[in-house]
Amino acid sequence: MSAPTHHFTIDLEEYFQVSAFEGRVARSDWGILESRVSGQVALLLELLARHEARATVFVLGWLAERQSELIREIARAGHEIASHGWDHVRVTHQTPRQFRRSVQRSKAVLEQITGTPVLGFRAPSFSIVPGREWALDILLEEGYRYDSSLFPVRRPGGGYGYPTGYPDPHWIERSAGRLAEIPPSTLDLCGMRLPAAGGAYFRLFPYSMVRAALRQCERRGVPGTFYIHPWEVDPAQPRFKVPWSTRVRHYGGLGGTARRLERLLGEFRFTTIERTLWQHRNNRQPQGVTDA
Ligand SMILES: [Zn+2]
Repeated sequence: MSAPTHHFTIDLEEYFQVSAFEGRVARSDWGILESRVSGQVALLLELLARHEARATVFVLGWLAERQSELIREIARAGHEIASHGWDHVRVTHQTPRQFRRSVQRSKAVLEQITGTPVLGFRAPSFSIVPGREWALDILLEEGYRYDSSLFPVRRPGGGYGYPTGYPDPHWIERSAGRLAEIPPSTLDLCGMRLPAAGGAYFRLFPYSMVRAALRQCERRGVPGTFYIHPWEVDPAQPRFKVPWSTRVRHYGGLGGTARRLERLLGEFRFTTIERTLWQHRNNRQPQGVTDA
């Protein structure tokens, strides 16, 4: 059996739209800050093309509305366009009604731009946490087919994490229907389940952790899910004055991201989540996205 093809995912947002900067950057200032996303995306698209990799790109509706040509360019390059909500408000800070509006509006704008149905959603900062499962029902009701927001880790301090989540792709049965869940990959190490699939973990931890996480997925016969943000390949981005811990988490290792991505893309094969779902469309088992 050949090794599974993994998922390369991008959360498409500007460097100033990160949840950790919410207290520093007012949403009302977003429109006047320097936009850097197109240069960052160009670098990512070039890397992906060189390694013949396809990605799923979760796009903020706010950004898509202002950069529609960029979104079309990504879609034309063969990547999947999915939703990252409207303006990066975490689900933990939304009422069901606000969440519905956000996923409805972002889906409509993205579909209008690309002319292709949007199937997937990833919550800002993986913020579908225990107690917020109503979000999964709303996604089904609004026509989404999969979610990629349940990070199956326990994170001290909270913020995100769905500790009881199943770590591999699976189906979730809800009263509103059946939703595929594609969680970001984790690494099992000495009985602990660690986040290892991208973002700060990819920049700050040894590269071997991400590699080991994806190899563990391969041994289980399932695709792993890696994630990255465009601002993570841009060491020259304007920097905000933030507490030390946020600075390390957000700005640490930026200069090495592109090199690490090069290595990752050379070592593993990547495709879109949509393609995996298509391959497993007839699988009715509870964990039906897997081959197990
Ligand atoms: Zn985000």
